[in-house]
Amino acid sequence: MDYESLAAKSLRGELISREEMRAVLNASDERLAELLDGAFKVRRHYFGKRVQIHVLMNAKSGLCPEDCHYCSQSSISKAPIDKYPLLPRKRLLEGAFEAKAAGAVRY
Ligand code: SF4
Repeated sequence: MDYESLAAKSLRGELISREEMRAVLNASDERLAELLDGAFKVRRHYFGKRVQIHVLMNAKSGLCPEDCHYCSQSSISKAPIDKYPLLPRKRLLEGAFEAKAAGAVRY
């Protein structure tokens, strides 16, 4: 797989094939730099070097009443994460103001 050609194909507006997508997903660690270089070309074309900051606040942690066994947020999970109930409104609002002050566009 030639990631440079794949990036050029994408920039021409051509759809990449399912096989090409699969090759990207299965790229070996040794080719990661080439893959990132191709991906950056596409990203720079459409977005330049702009980023948007989104801040996540975990309003509640580890106490979900559901029992989805794969999920660390379930109250039955033994995952070593912080567990706390819904944070107070004041703390959530403080987080929003902190995010805004830090330049976040979404909280
Ligand atoms: S995936 Fe996790 S957070 Fe979502 S309902 Fe299941 S246990 Fe709760």
